[in-house]
Amino acid sequence: GNELTLSVVVPAYNEEEVLPAFHRRLCDVLDKLSISSEILYINDGSNDRTLDVLNALQDSRVAIIDLSRNFGKEIAMTAGLDHAKGEAVVVIDADLQDPPELIPKFIENWQEGYDVVYARRTARDGETFIKKATAKLFYRFIQGVSRVKIPEDTGDYRLLSRRAVEALKQLRETHRFMKGLFAWIGYPQVAVNYRRDPRFAGKTKWNYWHLWNFALEGITSFTINPLKIASYLGLTTSIVSFTYALFVIYKTLVFGEPVQGYPTLMVVILFLG
Ligand code: UDP
Ligand code: MG
Repeated sequence: GNELTLSVVVPAYNEEEVLPAFHRRLCDVLDKLSISSEILYINDGSNDRTLDVLNALQDSRVAIIDLSRNFGKEIAMTAGLDHAKGEAVVVIDADLQDPPELIPKFIENWQEGYDVVYARRTARDGETFIKKATAKLFYRFIQGVSRVKIPEDTGDYRLLSRRAVEALKQLRETHRFMKGLFAWIGYPQVAVNYRRDPRFAGKTKWNYWHLWNFALEGITSFTINPLKIASYLGLTTSIVSFTYALFVIYKTLVFGEPVQGYPTLMVVILFLG
């Protein structure tokens, strides 16, 4: 047949409930495309029947990468990108929150010359107010402190051209904040808008503690500004302390001090502080 052109990378962690439905909806979309495709499922150390469900898929387009344990979505995605052979690669969640029906639009934009086509949510159904608010705050903050422009309301759902994938593959850090890396590589990038549906089945693997750590990871991977702020604050504080300590010593030597022990205590505290 014709040469391979599209790879679809699907990280999956404990997704036994959704995978059959996901695979059907994805295939409906791929079948209508004029280009051929492969689907790479990455089993990210699931402890349910995800791997069995994947093995049961009777489809010659499917390849399975089975990770030795749960490494997290960023690493699972990376394994997929490393093995994808297509001229274009789509990264998509398995829970149907990323509608596969957007793929034809991604391909249109790719054929117009864009290297990165990312899906931008205009609405997020089925997510709590707090999750939406904290997400907004995170994007505000990271945009404020980092020079890499990470698009807001964007997940990992996107299409990457071959050269964008090759650029990403050169970034081998083990602590990966993919949304930042996608933006960092540059190249012409464009958004496709959509409404984000609630999860089809199963439940989210991200609690607030995970999200908090994820946010910290994102910020510390993409800017050293917090480190600079801490350094300058520390430097300023110690200059002020040393100056005042010298002043206390000078005052005691020249004018004397009626409170016994006060200058010693003060100087020691200022020095240690
Ligand atoms: N995922 C993964 N490894 C993990 C956690 C999640 O591969 O350790 C996958 C998961 O199977 C899904 C995608 O990453 O395909 C997004 O996860 P989830 O829907 O739980 O995140 P949310 O949509 O709530 O941000
Ligand atoms: Mg989800």
